[in-house]
Amino acid sequence: MIITVQRHADPSLVRKQLIELGLWVKRFDDSGAVRFLVEPHSARVTREQLLGVAGVGEVAVPRSSTPLLDAHPATLRIGTVEIGASAKPVLMAGPCSVESEAAVTELARKVAACGATFLRGGAFKPRTSPYDFQGHGKAALGWMRRAADDNGLLVVTEAMAPAEVELVAQYADLLQVGSRNMQSSPLLRAAGASGRPILLKRGMASTMDEWLAAAEYLLLHGAAGVVLCERGIRSFDTFTRFSLDLAAVAYLTHVRRLPVVVDPSHGAGRRDLIASLSRASIAVGAAGLMVETHEQPGEALSDGPQALPIAVLDDLGRELFSHARAQTPAVSGRVSACGSELS
Ligand code: PEP
Ligand code: MN
Repeated sequence: MIITVQRHADPSLVRKQLIELGLWVKRFDDSGAVRFLVEPHSARVTREQLLGVAGVGEVAVPRSSTPLLDAHPATLRIGTVEIGASAKPVLMAGPCSVESEAAVTELARKVAACGATFLRGGAFKPRTSPYDFQGHGKAALGWMRRAADDNGLLVVTEAMAPAEVELVAQYADLLQVGSRNMQSSPLLRAAGASGRPILLKRGMASTMDEWLAAAEYLLLHGAAGVVLCERGIRSFDTFTRFSLDLAAVAYLTHVRRLPVVVDPSHGAGRRDLIASLSRASIAVGAAGLMVETHEQPGEALSDGPQALPIAVLDDLGRELFSHARAQTPAVSGRVSACGSELS
């Protein structure tokens, strides 16, 4: 909202009162008047309340480019699981790619024991090289669904193309739109029209505004809700696979009040950093984590270097997701056992 300070009022006193209301305030002077831009989402403050602040003249409400997202609840219920501000953090865990029925069945049992409530895994894989493993497609969806059902888990998996959406939506509780496709408007329309809740991963080179506009697309076309997923963006530094933008997570959680989860696996690209980034993500307000795991990361068909061995996921589960798992005695010191790319 844009606030114009009354001509004879003291702008610094007005600003102080606005800040006390919990607003993020930026001053700009225009046509001889002092104006403040206040974040419309940063506190649940109405225009009427602002007009009641001593020294405030006019309050203008610019048209939002994301009206549906503005009205989106801070907490989303998917099946039996709640994700968002008023819920405990959720763990989405599983392989990068669903590799075989036996592997995903075994992994589902183990991630559930670690405290996961969602089984993640790719059936249709967006790979950079056409020579890399592309996923087992429809068969993998069935394997994953059965493995999840047998262990009381929900399924989150990706559709890459509009033509895949209907099929994937039959198997997924939460339909994933991946980083490489975040701005594909045909896919956003089709995913929204499925009526499912969507996990929208941030495009690796997308700004916050582009990401939020993509979420608006989904809601406009009928999505039951959106969970945003910060998974790292490209920066000048290629030291880690991507740069995990935790400021974005804090902003989305505390200013926009939207459900957002963090994927530290793709963010870092190496498993030894994942526990630390997971703690940091929860600390800034993430509603959950999406973590890749594998029984034998060195043998994984995709993204092995960033996959956590189950023992390490188990440690992470004890530390951050104890509310979601059966209590078992603590085992410590295993996080340090994940230092090599090929372990
Ligand atoms: C994934 O989660 O399987 C994936 C491919 O991630 P991203 O779209 O973030 O690269
Ligand atoms: Mn992956």
